[in-house]
Amino acid sequence: MAYDITLIPGDGIGPEVISATVDIIEAVGVDINWDKVEAGANTIETEGTPLPDYVINSIKKNKIALKGPLTTPIGQGFRSVNVSLRKKLDLFANIRPVKSFNGIPSLHKDVDLIIVRENTEDLYAGVERMIDENRAESIKIITKKASERICRYAFQMARDLNRKKVTLVHKANIMKLSDGLFLESGRKIAKDYPDIEFEEVIVDAMSMKLVQFPQDYDVIVAPNLYGDILSDLAAGLIGGLGLAPSANIGEEIALFEPVHGSALDISNKNIANPISAILSGVLMLKHIGQFDAAVKIERALSVVLKDEANRTMDLGGKQGTKEFAEKVIEKIS
Ligand code: NAD
Repeated sequence: MAYDITLIPGDGIGPEVISATVDIIEAVGVDINWDKVEAGANTIETEGTPLPDYVINSIKKNKIALKGPLTTPIGQGFRSVNVSLRKKLDLFANIRPVKSFNGIPSLHKDVDLIIVRENTEDLYAGVERMIDENRAESIKIITKKASERICRYAFQMARDLNRKKVTLVHKANIMKLSDGLFLESGRKIAKDYPDIEFEEVIVDAMSMKLVQFPQDYDVIVAPNLYGDILSDLAAGLIGGLGLAPSANIGEEIALFEPVHGSALDISNKNIANPISAILSGVLMLKHIGQFDAAVKIERALSVVLKDEANRTMDLGGKQGTKEFAEKVIEKIS
């Protein structure tokens, strides 16, 4: 039976890395009807919006989506389509595994952690205003419901994956009410998981510890903003954003996308690293139960990466995006 899956190529390097991913998934033999829909910069001109209703309808119908990055204008213009998608589809958990690759030059080896980022509130709620022309305010929204839900998700995931520890990140010494509520929620849920070690770390100290001793961490749960920042930081420890996949999970719907953005500085040059998108596809295959196919891709990736000549520019090589995907496909077949 073929799977119906929504495909959003995205902006910037999105179409290049997503096309590489689709080619690889097709090569591994999983039968998918891709429901390809455009969103982002492209549809502003054609549809008058970066997030047309047909995108939401397609994802609601298919329940699974693979997406490239979408550009968000800085300091002005429309609000983030990525944030809108997560909110509209209630994709409350953003799962970001960070795992070292053998042989890839990086600041650290043996990193194997998963960041679980709350995905629907915090400063990303976009509640901000100009008080007058010299003052602006942005409201940080933290609810008990969303905090308990994400903490439970992190603990349950830790148990299911046989992980040993959940580290909750906060700044409740300063934001006593909002981060205080997130921390209290974590402490409460931790009591239901006595088999999992629980620790609390303040976000500034966490940043330093993660840079120095990333091997000490297993599952990290954080409110939206800290989770976002720490996941880019963690990607930097293992070789960069080109290697970091993510899954946005809701009760019924799941959307998979690379952690990186549209990287306009390198788009349309066939030099972007497609591994983050490919590994997001691997997470998707595991989610739909296609474990053999997922493992085949992971194995092919690690074999191809062993040869320095096969690596893209961000990893010190000269390989093109398309050619990298062709090498992976050769290994699969
Ligand atoms: P970015 O992740 O696009 O790029 C940061 C740096 O990493 C750049 O130097 C870029 O060249 C490099 N990089 C990123 N992905 C790479 C890859 N696959 N291979 C090689 N190098 C790669 O971050 P940015 O420049 O801050 O953001 C650009 C746009 O993307 C912004 O509009 C931002 O809002 C958007 N964005 C979207 C998402 C998403 O769709 N989920 C996530 C993050 C940023």
